[in-house]
Formats: sequence, structure tokens, C-alpha cells
Amino acid sequence: MSAAKDTNGVLAVLIVGAGFSGVAMAIRCQQQGIGPISVIEKGPGIGGTWRENTYPGAACDVPSHLYSLSFAPKADWSRLYAKQLEIEDYLRGVAEQYGLMPLIRFGTTLRRAVWDEAGALWRAETDRGEILARAIVSGAGGLHHPSMPDIPGRTDFAGASFHTAAWDHSADLKGRRVGIVGTGASAIQVVPELAGHAGHLTVFQRTPPWIMPKNDRAIPEERKARYARFPVLRLLERWRLFWRLEFPALVGFTRVSKVTAQAEGMAKHNLRKAVPDKVLREKLTPQYRFGCKRVLLSDEYYPALQRDDVTLETGSIARIVPDGVEMADGTKHGLDALVFATGFDVLGGSLRTEVVGREGRRLAEAWADGMQAFQGITVAGFPNYFILLGPNTGIGHNSIIAMIEIQVDHVIGCLKALAEGRQAIEVSEPAQVRFVERIRNRMKESIWQAGGCRSWYLDNQGRNTTLWPDSVLAYRRSARRARMSDYRLR
Ligand code: NAP
Repeated sequence: MSAAKDTNGVLAVLIVGAGFSGVAMAIRCQQQGIGPISVIEKGPGIGGTWRENTYPGAACDVPSHLYSLSFAPKADWSRLYAKQLEIEDYLRGVAEQYGLMPLIRFGTTLRRAVWDEAGALWRAETDRGEILARAIVSGAGGLHHPSMPDIPGRTDFAGASFHTAAWDHSADLKGRRVGIVGTGASAIQVVPELAGHAGHLTVFQRTPPWIMPKNDRAIPEERKARYARFPVLRLLERWRLFWRLEFPALVGFTRVSKVTAQAEGMAKHNLRKAVPDKVLREKLTPQYRFGCKRVLLSDEYYPALQRDDVTLETGSIARIVPDGVEMADGTKHGLDALVFATGFDVLGGSLRTEVVGREGRRLAEAWADGMQAFQGITVAGFPNYFILLGPNTGIGHNSIIAMIEIQVDHVIGCLKALAEGRQAIEVSEPAQVRFVERIRNRMKESIWQAGGCRSWYLDNQGRNTTLWPDSVLAYRRSARRARMSDYRLR
């Protein structure tokens, strides 16, 4: 087992982030005898996105028996879709079970990483000093730098005002007039919790999401006991869930097709059943194709919007004033508190840490024409540097943990080459160019670019540099094994 103690002051691997990616990476390094390793984590605990997003109603929209590490099963998930705290507890339990805690330096933020060509190592500058490592694996994730909207007067608001990913639990919203901007995955989980708790809730919608029923429910005790007693049953359930979610990808969900129209029919049926009022229904009907933005799951959002103490506002916001929000048509919503469920700064966030590769090349320069990486993991010019959940490896249809585990396998393949005595491993430029071309060609006609919407999936040139445009199985085939012919070894 690798120790936290460095050899000659140089780690074999420095892992950044103690969320699902960092934890999975650290465990696999240990299992493969790759060390010494260390994990740095900016926050005070394990969990990543599941430690940071503590907004009321935060839960996963992928079933828990699938949204968990393949090698660390949990028989007693309480619900079909676990809530934030249970997932955070699960991941902390896994880290403890695998003895990771002594390897993690909490409260340590990576500020800059510079490749030292002569020493064939990375100099990682953190707010707690320098760390030297042969390789860096970034498990920092893409969805954690809140994106605050550019609405005039935003900072003038006098009441409590915060982003869903930085929920202010000290703010007392009970009985108050609360506004929430945004109707994405975070908002549709918060809105049902705030409705009835706030005195009045105003939901500011710019674009309605497509919503399907979630059918969430508690998992009965007998089922939990059965899964504990017969692990094969839990495994079968995991496989069933995987194939159910993978199915749309296998029938070509990335393009506008007959399947798109069928899905739209089902979502509209769900809306008709849930919302009898024609005017409200019209406001909630998307004018873009199903799947262009992330499809959301909820049983509670539409009912919440129909409460007397909830208003759905679909006009454009003109400005935020100290005591509310003024609309372009001159009307005003008086508010005591304002919540921003406005998503994340994906590109800006990923470049917040300065990464300087060979010949002083910065990752920000390498990505000036859009984020890109071979298999979403490695970038030419940046030896021994690996990104988990990097460009074009996000998915909306299945468990992202499956993608993380495939990437961890790929990185392990590269790290083994280093462990066998090589100094540096770097993806070849042609391999990266071929991969990126393949992705860009697939994206051209994809639903995300041709589906008539704008989402965080797209960069400022309208290109999708965030999602993997195929099934998880296709990614597994493409990325799981690191082929040395795609890499330059020194
Ligand atoms: P999001 O999907 O990016 O949604 C942001 C919302 O804010 C959108 O409705 C957007 O409207 C609105 N908005 C942004 N700027 C605005 C402005 N200036 N004026 C008015 N409205 C504005 O963010 P999110 O809901 O936090 O979700 C982000 C991602 O996190 C998800 O796609 C998902 O991958 C992940 N997530 C997952 C779960 C889960 O259960 N697994 C839960 C939460 C989040 P437009 O649509 O018009 O842009």
C-alpha cells in the first residue's frame, strides 16, 4: 500500500480533489501499488459536488444502485434516488474503508502547476506550499464554480442572496418572499422544498426544461436485506438500471430522430397530466427539441408551481433592485430573498488553476480554440497530466461514475508506464487531433447543437466541448485501455 510519505520529496501521483473522481483514482492507485500518492482537497471533507451542493432537495437524478462505485457496493440505499447527505456519507465511508484519510490534505487549494522538464516532474503550488509530483491527476470536476448572471443591479439586492451551490443555511426563508432565478436541474429540486416554506415563491424562468416523471420512492427494508444477503441480486439491479439508461444512447439519442419525437410526446403527456391549466402548461412547454438541454426528472416540480403561494414568472428580468426584481414590462416582484439557480462556469472554472506545460505553454492557450483532450483525459504539451471528467466526457443519460471509472482505468495504464521506469508520458499531437476531429464531426448534427437551444454544454462558439456524444459502452471501447501507440514515452 502506498504511503502518504513522499519518496525524496516527490510523489508518484498528486490527485486534486476528493470527490468521486479523486477517491476512485486514489483507491485504484493503491490497488495497483502506484505510490506514494497524495490527494489535496480545497474543502474540509470528502464528497466534492455532494459536499458542496447542500441546497434543500439536493438529490441525485441517477438511481443510487447505479450512481455508486462498481467496487464499493452499498446494499442499503434508502431510496431509489438518494439525497445529497446519503451520497456524501457513502463516499466518505468508501474513503475510510480504503484507508484514504491519511493521504488527503484537506483545506489545500492548487493554485498553479508547472511542468519541470529537467526534473520530469510537476511543481504544484498550493496555498499551503509546494508539492512535487511525477504526475498530477485532476479530479476537480467541472461543475463547481457558480455562474452568477449578469443582471443589472444584482449586487444591490438588500436581502439574503446566494447561489444554490453555496446555500446560505443561516438565511431564514420561512414565511418570506423568495425569488429563484433559473429552472435547471438544481432549481427543480429546490422549488418544491421552498414552496410552502417561503411565504411566497416567485420562479423566474427564461427557458422551460423538458421534464419526465422521476418515480422516486423509498426502498423497502426487505429489499435492502435481500441485497445484503444475496449480492448478486444487487448486481443484477445495477445492470438492469445501467441498460435501461443506456438504451437511448444505443438507439441514437444524440440526433434529432423519431425517438426524439416519441420522447417529446411522452414528456408532453406528463405535462398535460400534471398541469391542467392551459396557460400555465403553455409557459412550461419547451420550444426546442427534447434532449437539447439536460432532460430533468421530477414528480414534485409541476405540483409545486400550481400552489397559490407560487408564481411562475416568464417575462424578462430588467434589473434587480434592493427590494426585488423589476421586469422589462415595468412590473415588479417585491422580494426578501433571492436564490440563483443559474448553473456553473464550466470553461472559466476549469482554467481557474494555471497549468503550465512543456515549453511554458499554458492550458488556457492550448484551449483558446475550445477545451479539448485526447479521450477527454490527456492534452499534448502536458506530460504526466491527466484530467478526470475533462472535455467531452460528460453524460446526461447514464451514471457519470461509470465514465469516471473508465477514465481511471486509462490513467492507471499511463501511470504504469511511468512506474516501469519512464520519465514522461504525453499524448501525441496526431492522436489528440484525430480524437477531437471525430468528436467535432459527431457533434455537428447533434441534438445539442441542432436542437434549437443554448445550454452550458456549448462554448462561446456554439460547440459542445462538454458532453460525450455516444453511449457509455462506446466510451469504454474508446478510452478504457491506454494504447501506448497514442502516447510518446520518454
Ligand atoms: P443549469 O442547468 O445551467 O441551469 C441554469 C438555469 O439558470 C437555467 O434555467 C438558465 O436559463 C437560468 N439562467 C442562467 N442565467 C440566467 C439569466 N441571466 N437570467 C435568467 N435565467 C438564467 O444549472 P443547474 O441547474 O445548476 O445544473 C447544472 C448541471 O449540474 C446540470 O446540468 C447537471 O449536470 C448537474 N446537476 C445534476 C443534478 C442531479 O440530480 N444529478 C442536480 C443538479 C445539478 P436558460 O435555460 O434560459 O439558460
